[in-house]
Amino acid sequence: MISTRKYLGPDIKTILAEKGLDSNGRLWRDRLENTSGREVERALACATGSYSLEKLLAFISPAAEDYLEEMAQLARQLTVQRFGRTIRLYAPLYLSNFCVNSCRYCGFNRENKFKRTRLTIEQALTEADIIAAEGFRDILLVSSEDRKIVSIEYLTELAKKLRSKFSSISIEVYQMGVAEYAKLFEAGIKGVTVYQETYDREAYAYYHPAGPKSDYDNRLDTPDRVAAAGMREIGLGVLLGLVPLEVDGLLLTGQADWRVETLALAEHAHYLVKRYWRSRVSFSFPRLRPAYPAPEAVAGQSKHLLSDKNLVQMMMALRLCFADAGLVLSTRERAELRDRLIKLGTTKMSAGSKTCPGGYSEQTDAPPKAGMIRPCVAGRQFEIDDSRSPAQVAAMIRAQGAEPVWKDWDSAFDED
Ligand code: SF4
Repeated sequence: MISTRKYLGPDIKTILAEKGLDSNGRLWRDRLENTSGREVERALACATGSYSLEKLLAFISPAAEDYLEEMAQLARQLTVQRFGRTIRLYAPLYLSNFCVNSCRYCGFNRENKFKRTRLTIEQALTEADIIAAEGFRDILLVSSEDRKIVSIEYLTELAKKLRSKFSSISIEVYQMGVAEYAKLFEAGIKGVTVYQETYDREAYAYYHPAGPKSDYDNRLDTPDRVAAAGMREIGLGVLLGLVPLEVDGLLLTGQADWRVETLALAEHAHYLVKRYWRSRVSFSFPRLRPAYPAPEAVAGQSKHLLSDKNLVQMMMALRLCFADAGLVLSTRERAELRDRLIKLGTTKMSAGSKTCPGGYSEQTDAPPKAGMIRPCVAGRQFEIDDSRSPAQVAAMIRAQGAEPVWKDWDSAFDED
């Protein structure tokens, strides 16, 4: 259903520009540096799960690093109140690695030379059967961006065939128009993940030099179109660990600062929640991982990656400001860290993920069926770090006193 509700107030572009959150983070970095312990304590005293920019600023400030235990306790309480002791499990299904964009940090960059693959509908269904046999009822269809290769018709047909096996189908593909999202919604797709990657315009232009994704404003407006089409869940995120932009020896922006990116991300989420009552917002925390060949991702890995401590701080800060938001953790993160984050606000995790088209079929002992694709070596988007099986991850969740949930029960209440 296309939402006809009139938008009130300024759009997200105007909000970010007026607050200086789409460029020149220096003002905000100074404010963050100058935030005192007293201000963090004040924010903790009113941490009810509702958002204000001032409160979030305190929680992500360097001063808040001395209050992580207090933040953890509150984040835990809020998460249990809103979500119970449950962790939803999902699996990504990679459909294609053809891409028309050239994001500098990604192995699927159109400039990279390797044999690319797109699954046929039958191949995708075979992959989905393997995922379903592991127990998953929540699936994320992922594709690099090429709408001619993975068309709306392809996604519609696939979603209709997956509906009987999965209670929740989401996509992370290319940017679409409202009518296209509405068509996918009718076919059974209820969630869309679309990371802005970075809210800093200058950094965005540098990291996305060509292709449709190079249009910052179009990217920024995409979650509006997702919500206007009635999608139930909008996944937001920034890519953590981008290398500072240096041209001719001059450092042009400070966009690698995760703290300023978190402020912009939260403003975006707050804006969406206010305007689109039918849609829930979730946050993901993609830290750069090695990719083939994407040298800037590797450099980011070693020099500018967000520390574990700051990742925990970012997650807890968002929980303390968005009590109802999903916090999603992928297998990019290593097992020990994921285990610890179970109790700190995480609501949804992937497990046993394969990040190339055909990856699930390739892991089975049986020889590939006739017509199935050959093993993917270079065609991964990034390396995963937690390689445990879904059953092992579920056992770990239980051992932590939480319940792994394979099915999206909320979807039962979402039907019109
Ligand atoms: S990040 Fe996405 S759009 Fe960019 S190159 Fe990789 S697959 Fe393509």
